[in-house]
Amino acid sequence: SAKSDGKAQVALFHANMHKRAVAMLDLENDLRRALDRDEMLLHYQPIISLDSGKIVGVEALVRWHHTDRGVLSPLDFIPLAEETGLIVPIGEWVLRRACEQMAHWHREFPDRPPLQVNVNLSSRQFAKTDLVDSVTQVLAETALDPARLKLEITESALMENAQRSAHILEQFKRRDIQLSIDDFGIGYSSLAYLRTFPIDTIKIDKSFIIDMVTNRDNLEIVRTIAALAQNLNLDVIAEGVEAPDQLAQLRALGIEYAQGYLFSRPLDTAAITALLRQNPAW
Ligand code: C2E
Ligand code: MG
Ligand code: MG
Ligand code: MG
Repeated sequence: SAKSDGKAQVALFHANMHKRAVAMLDLENDLRRALDRDEMLLHYQPIISLDSGKIVGVEALVRWHHTDRGVLSPLDFIPLAEETGLIVPIGEWVLRRACEQMAHWHREFPDRPPLQVNVNLSSRQFAKTDLVDSVTQVLAETALDPARLKLEITESALMENAQRSAHILEQFKRRDIQLSIDDFGIGYSSLAYLRTFPIDTIKIDKSFIIDMVTNRDNLEIVRTIAALAQNLNLDVIAEGVEAPDQLAQLRALGIEYAQGYLFSRPLDTAAITALLRQNPAW
């Protein structure tokens, strides 16, 4: 009957909820041990200057090599890491690892214009009171020039407390650290606030880039962001560039930097090092 079907469904629903709760708890326990077990790793995706076609920097993107589940994407564990506060030690590990690696590349490629490394900060990290000190300390310990580090913070993280954000960004700027707004365009888009943040770069969210060529609205959004950035004297990076016609469109709009599968997927340290050595021009 319909009634017993309903009951069975409710029972199934509870069983599934229970299974999911247990799975989440397992994942949380595993995440607590991940750093000690040396299971976190970084991939790096090149950022390209559209003027020269050369790689000017890389974005560090964290991965978790889980013993049973294989390599997990940040989308599978960053939300949990945020919820549990584990993002703080994980984020610090990411920063240290990325800075060490970039300092290493600078020694390996001494004759080239120095590359920059972009590191993502979550809103939870951003809310920590000792963030500026801990970033400063990592830079000192890894001997990376602060001007070679660019912190990426999402628009929504900045807007959680805009006044406090402006204050923190100013402290970073005083230390000569570079700042980028990530995923720009999908958040509150508070253009008025943008002027009050001492940022260097806007990264246009990939959702606008991916169908820019076929979706007139998204093309107009990208055009508007590019014009805005120009007026505010900010660099623009388009993320999620997958196709040659998108690249042509970005060039036509005068956008200076791009990142996406068209150039390269995020690569492990060995593969990105090989790519940097080869130093291709796109
Ligand atoms: P994000 O910072 O916006 O990073 C860009 C994401 O877009 C990366 O996904 C990258 O692999 C992906 N991507 C790059 N080019 C293309 C493309 O052409 N097409 C498509 N479809 N995607 C492209 P990933 O590595 O899975 O990272 C997802 C998000 O996880 C990041 O988005 C960032 O918000 C977060 N994340 C990654 N690493 C860290 C970290 O160390 N700390 C924190 N707090 N968040 C991180
Ligand atoms: Mg990013
Ligand atoms: Mg982004
Ligand atoms: Mg994004």
